[in-house]
Amino acid sequence: MLTAVVGINWGDEGKGRMVDLLSEGYDVICRYQGGNNAGHTVVNERGRFILNLLPSGILREGVVNIMGSGMVIDLEHLCGEITTLGDKGVDITPKNLKISDKAFICLPFHKTQDILEEERLADKKYGSTHRGIAPVYGDKYMKKGLRVGDLLDIESLTQKLSDILQWKNMTLNAYGGANADLAETLRWLEEFGARLRPYIVNTTEYLSAAQKEGKDIMFEAQLGALRDIDYGIYPYTTSSHTLASYATTGAGIPGAKLDRVFGVMKAYSSCVGEGPFAAELFGTEADALREAGSEYGAATGRPRRVGGFDVVASRYGVKAQGAGELALTKLDVLSYMDKIPICVAYKIDGVVTESFPSGDCLTRAEPLYEYQDGFKTDISKCRRFEDLPPAAVSYVKYIEEAVGCPIKYVSVGPGREDYLEIDENY
Ligand code: GDP
Repeated sequence: MLTAVVGINWGDEGKGRMVDLLSEGYDVICRYQGGNNAGHTVVNERGRFILNLLPSGILREGVVNIMGSGMVIDLEHLCGEITTLGDKGVDITPKNLKISDKAFICLPFHKTQDILEEERLADKKYGSTHRGIAPVYGDKYMKKGLRVGDLLDIESLTQKLSDILQWKNMTLNAYGGANADLAETLRWLEEFGARLRPYIVNTTEYLSAAQKEGKDIMFEAQLGALRDIDYGIYPYTTSSHTLASYATTGAGIPGAKLDRVFGVMKAYSSCVGEGPFAAELFGTEADALREAGSEYGAATGRPRRVGGFDVVASRYGVKAQGAGELALTKLDVLSYMDKIPICVAYKIDGVVTESFPSGDCLTRAEPLYEYQDGFKTDISKCRRFEDLPPAAVSYVKYIEEAVGCPIKYVSVGPGREDYLEIDENY
């Protein structure tokens, strides 16, 4: 079974906890895109873990975790994550972690360039996390990147790096920044590369063999459909492909077909950083929702922008992901509301639309809100769909109908057991 677990919205939907839940029984978990610019939070009996680079399956014993070729990896950050988890008793060895030789290395100068560019953009900035993600993907497509496999041959790596720095320093200098130093960058690569070398594999070979043996493989995305570089809200996207259709490619088995696409969607909206966010709420209404949902970035601590559930954007996200089933997360967060806001359509230049626009007109979209009755009860202990108050049931059913895809799970708290499964016949 090949399954992808992906985000339907702007990210932060709670994918980490759903992968943690759904990965039971899976043999292999793969991250297939992105870097340490997002954070998955997983809470289980072993504690609370924030994973920026490591796949969420790292917390399950016996699961093999793959960091795929579509990823960009800050070696220092990864070493830090391995140490932090090790200190909490999570054993990470080449048996349960394998890093693709084709993944790209995010170097210290990528972070420098990211910061310099955001400073240059000033009030037009994209809201980068300053982790160097856009510059490293940019270099990949300029064919000026270093890959993890390069760590296996230091002599050739030195030559490649020297050539790259000649080119990169022209850019850094143009910003008024200092040169990236060859010796210093090499020292960084050698120090952290030495620690990670035992984990490097050809994930194409590994995953092909695993697939042949009938292993169950799960692909875990970072961020959501609306952040995909091609199908998201460009340029307020990430620099990689967050869609399920890229999962097998970014992991290492581009010819394989997915059996199941599982979308994770939040019961309201949140968005980190800049860019159009039509359903955004403001003032005390937003503050209350942000506090109730603890909407602060897992990787950066930045307060997230929040809004009611956005039917227009979510329906688009479900389609772009090709999701066949959904999890609706954080329903418990809405317990305090008298009336639950749902953005059912946009008004753009006086015209009402229910389809998600591409292009700049999205910046002019005004949300058309409808309200459902609040449920005003603590639902965090509910474990069956029929235990939910009728107003919560009708909210879930309304959303399911509106986005056109069955909701299989509803989560009602951050813990591993805080969810309920919806019976097919309900
Ligand atoms: P991800 O990147 O999609 O994995 O999402 P994040 O980890 O950034 O955000 C999800 C946050 O919501 C984490 O702090 C989770 O512990 C928390 N969370 C997930 N599901 C639920 C839920 O059903 N209820 C509540 N209250 N919190 C949840």
